[in-house]
Amino acid sequence: MVTATAYAAPSATEPLVPTTIERRAVGPRDVLIEVRFAGICHSDIHTVRGDWGPQAFPLTPGHEIAGVVVEVGAAVTRHSVGDRVGVGCMVNSCRECANCLAGNEQYCVAGFTGTYGAVDRDGSITQGGYSSHVVVVEDFVVGIPAGLELDVAAPLLCAGVTTYSPLRHWGAGPGKKVAIVGLGGLGHMGVKIAHALGAEVTVLSQTLKKQADALDLGADHFFATNDAQTFAELAGSFDLIINTVSAVVDIDAYLRLLALDGVLVNVGAPAEPLSVNVFSLISTRRALAGSTIGGIRETQEMLDFCAEHNIGSEIEVISAEQINEAYERVLASDVRYRFVIDASTI
Ligand code: NAP
Ligand code: ZN
Repeated sequence: MVTATAYAAPSATEPLVPTTIERRAVGPRDVLIEVRFAGICHSDIHTVRGDWGPQAFPLTPGHEIAGVVVEVGAAVTRHSVGDRVGVGCMVNSCRECANCLAGNEQYCVAGFTGTYGAVDRDGSITQGGYSSHVVVVEDFVVGIPAGLELDVAAPLLCAGVTTYSPLRHWGAGPGKKVAIVGLGGLGHMGVKIAHALGAEVTVLSQTLKKQADALDLGADHFFATNDAQTFAELAGSFDLIINTVSAVVDIDAYLRLLALDGVLVNVGAPAEPLSVNVFSLISTRRALAGSTIGGIRETQEMLDFCAEHNIGSEIEVISAEQINEAYERVLASDVRYRFVIDASTI
């Protein structure tokens, strides 16, 4: 066993506190990673606060992990001691179903094993990256390319791939008009990646407060959604909309912004259901879709793409004792644009 320091939520209603957790002994195909930086994803907050259902507590969140390999099992071939590596939202899957075999482990028929709060193969509950160390089977560990610093790379492991995957799947590129709804952790990565793919990028944010930032990130246009005129002016104009909002929005209002055959991909995951008026879809053959994270191969591809295009996350590095305060700021849409925990303070 490996004893790691960590921050954990004791319950859905209490702040996270320092603790220690036991990681499994490094098995033949496992990698022991010293965590250097861990991003704070809004999903961490949804999970520990019970938005998505009851959890086993205490729970250590964190699925945007960047660190360095400090030990490898005897049969490990993909990583070596000293490698800079990342772990995202998954630490295992069945590896046998058609989806896993196609590299879509995130859609594993048996359900992937989440990095935290999931039942692991040995029956234990997985614990995430707000921790000094993690032990992960080598196939679910990706390499962080030279040129990407670990702090700005950490958020790519969830926010980066969650936006990269649908942007690629639905063909964002030159000649395509893409809108990103919500300029938070996911949204700002969506802007950077869509811009690097060559698309014309519009940000739809609640107010004009983040306008200058969005244009710096690579957006071509910016509109505030608290202005009804925005929805009139942009009606029928986008090929692809990625909705990253963590709360329920009026999905019909956004569907009406799509052109013929346009697709709205919902990646935001609020606790409550969204409702849709079918006429928003059938009037111009629009589609409403969803997408979750990305496969392991695709995560590596995204990291290589980001290194090549010099894309990292815009981050505010915090010490572990600031985690609870950071959660409140994320909930208030006051994050520019990802909090990253310096794991040496855990
Ligand atoms: P975040 O940093 O909090 O960003 C969400 C943004 O949504 C906010 O910055 C804000 O942007 C906007 N927003 C928040 N509340 C709103 C409201 N009531 N009405 C309208 N807009 C609002 O969160 P995140 O980490 O990017 O995650 C976003 C969502 O995606 C969460 O629900 C998370 O669980 C989910 N998620 C899904 C996946 C997946 O695989 N599908 C992966 C990761 C995360 P503005 O200030 O610009 O309006
Ligand atoms: Zn996440």
